[in-house]
Amino acid sequence: MQDTPAIPATPVGGKPPKVGFVSLGCPKALTDSELILTQLSAEGYETSKTFAGADLVIVNTCGFIDDAVKESLDTIGEALSENGRVIVTGCLGARADAAGDNLVRAVHPKVLAVTGPHATQEVMDAVHQHAPKPHDPFVDLVPATGIKLTPKHYAYLKISEGCNHRCTFCIIPSMRGDLVSRPVGDVLSEARALFESGVKELLVVSQDTSAYGVDLKYRTGFFDGKPVKTRMLELCAQLGELAAPHGAWVRLHYVYPYPHVDELLPLMAEGRVLPYLDVPFQHSHPEVLRRMKRPASGERNLERLLMWREACPELVIRSTFIAGFPGETEAEFQHLLDFVREAQIDRAGCFAYSPVAGAAANDLPGALPTEVREERRARFMAVAEQVSIARLQHRVGATMQVLVDKAPALGRKGGLGRSYADAPEIDGNVRLLPPEKASKTLKVGEFTKARVVATEGHDLIAQPI
Ligand code: SF4
Repeated sequence: MQDTPAIPATPVGGKPPKVGFVSLGCPKALTDSELILTQLSAEGYETSKTFAGADLVIVNTCGFIDDAVKESLDTIGEALSENGRVIVTGCLGARADAAGDNLVRAVHPKVLAVTGPHATQEVMDAVHQHAPKPHDPFVDLVPATGIKLTPKHYAYLKISEGCNHRCTFCIIPSMRGDLVSRPVGDVLSEARALFESGVKELLVVSQDTSAYGVDLKYRTGFFDGKPVKTRMLELCAQLGELAAPHGAWVRLHYVYPYPHVDELLPLMAEGRVLPYLDVPFQHSHPEVLRRMKRPASGERNLERLLMWREACPELVIRSTFIAGFPGETEAEFQHLLDFVREAQIDRAGCFAYSPVAGAAANDLPGALPTEVREERRARFMAVAEQVSIARLQHRVGATMQVLVDKAPALGRKGGLGRSYADAPEIDGNVRLLPPEKASKTLKVGEFTKARVVATEGHDLIAQPI
């Protein structure tokens, strides 16, 4: 028996139960949170901004790196002490401890229920059990797009779950399972509803966007009565068509450098999807990539990237890297630094390798001392920043389309936005100066043209025109 306070069944006409919600982790986890919140709202549950004011609390966790695990466990602990009735979902919920027991339950035995990621129905079943459904659901109050945790003008669109790769440093497949692509008709219907609700930037996410449809053998689905293949190229072409009447952007994340990605470049050159690719290279040296078991590790990444740049000169590449992977020699690390310089990576993030419990890389020989890993990360970032800042400098004098994220003082005193080169949260910003023309104001969620006048770190400063 769990030692938790009981909640009475909601009487007919009584107040609907309130659910506290904490969403941690990556954009994929965020879309899971949105599905759960949408379902809660559809059934008439209310949300509470505080743990204490809720009838129960749902914590959507992240279990990817040690810091994320700690943050998730701490948040569950906080919710338990302030509320006492906690349901845990997400990646951490699928992890086992060293003894093979559920990690969350081992640390916090008083939680009401624990599920893995993308488990909306299981979470709802637990909610129904511990805070019974209201009798008068406000179904009609839920927007067609569901509940979004992002600002109204951009949204993440998850196209698949799980991953068929087995990178040695990663435990996501053990938590999220193999690749399961969403039906192309569902994905496109969701995209259309989002654009119709005012979304101006759609961020396509998954674990491996380039693999979309592999599990379904690229079968033909239907959207609006028309056949569409479940494949990245066809999906992106359709998304571009849906975005066009709204003047909206489509941005692609987690794309691997497979040969078939070449086919996307014409769509980018034609402006149907943004000339921006988030390609998590992780390393450049073939031997390190082989030890990492990375997708597309056998591809000639530098040649491919230079060819992409030729096909679409505006292309911006964001990537993440790992420095100090087990066995990484100084020569292999130098190869990585040369790659960043030659490939002219616009935006790069770098982690010093850190072992993740349960990952195969932990058993690889040649683990490097923490100081070496950290020192390489710092050297990497110094080079990556030089490249990034030099590339930003080239934009001074250019006129760019900027999507406004913040516009205080009714948009008369400038604001903050992003160009096609900046994804929300992870890249830089465009700092907008106060408009010169009295008739011009900046509005959140709208585009403005702006002339770049200077750079500031990873950001641009621009004058709205
Ligand atoms: S591609 Fe590799 S790093 Fe990415 S989710 Fe799959 S296994 Fe993990």
